[in-house]
Amino acid sequence: MAAIEKIMTPKLIIHGGFYGELLPTSEIKTAKQRSLQLILEKAYAYLLEHSALETVTFTVGLLENDPLFNAGTGSQIQNDGQIRASAGIMDGTSKKFGGVINLQGIKNPILVAHRLLDFEDRVLSGQGAFTFAHEHQFEEASLETQVRRKEYEEKLAASRTSTVGCVALDSEGRLAAATSTGGKGFEIPGRVSDSATIAGNYANNDCGISCTGVGEDIVSAGVAVKAVTRVSDGMDLDQALDRTFAELAEFDGFAGAIAIDAKGNIRYRESHPQVVYGWHDGEKTKTFE
Ligand code: ASP
Repeated sequence: MAAIEKIMTPKLIIHGGFYGELLPTSEIKTAKQRSLQLILEKAYAYLLEHSALETVTFTVGLLENDPLFNAGTGSQIQNDGQIRASAGIMDGTSKKFGGVINLQGIKNPILVAHRLLDFEDRVLSGQGAFTFAHEHQFEEASLETQVRRKEYEEKLAASRTSTVGCVALDSEGRLAAATSTGGKGFEIPGRVSDSATIAGNYANNDCGISCTGVGEDIVSAGVAVKAVTRVSDGMDLDQALDRTFAELAEFDGFAGAIAIDAKGNIRYRESHPQVVYGWHDGEKTKTFE
């Protein structure tokens, strides 16, 4: 195989959603930051050898496997005591979006969303999503942890916590975005998260964005798709995010977004503190509260 000509320094940004509100703030912050930093390093090393699409899948899979985050293992529990996970992925090059909504009993929802990119029907929900995952032999597992069960039993599970996401720009200039969530916590079964919609996760050749926050607010403001479209229409990334977050602020919407554009600019915005996130620009790596 011919060597890939490196025309871009690969860039990566990840988020671990909003901090949980139950555990002592400093404890949860430190644990999430440490985990995010380790995942960031693994993800960037992976990006050096793989495409943006492969990298966002791999990275969100690592985040799903970490029970600290509200995605995959450790997802929040809905008001009927069940966990239903959602994940979305978008390849900025092919413009294909794949997603699973309210998927139960599958360890890594993002892997199923990624697999769906090869199919005509690319967003599946509920039992249909499970049947697809089962038939394609994705690992089945309970996503419940003792911490989430305790939160549920105490009816204290904090909303606005800890979805995960990744945006990557690879050495060939391709962008991709992936997002995975256990939802808001205590939601009505059947509620649809933003994470497997273009409001919560979007990418094209110009920009990629992954969101966290209150899904209803993210959908109302169309955060990811609007900000990306604004970049495609000529705004710079800062202006596009400023405009989109100003619209969100009109109704005090609650959201955070990570973004990378085709020029390699890495950005982060949030309407309310504090999302945990980190980025790697090829030289520096940093995680933030
Ligand atoms: N956006 C997710 C949802 O509303 C939750 C989150 O980001 O924490 O389902």
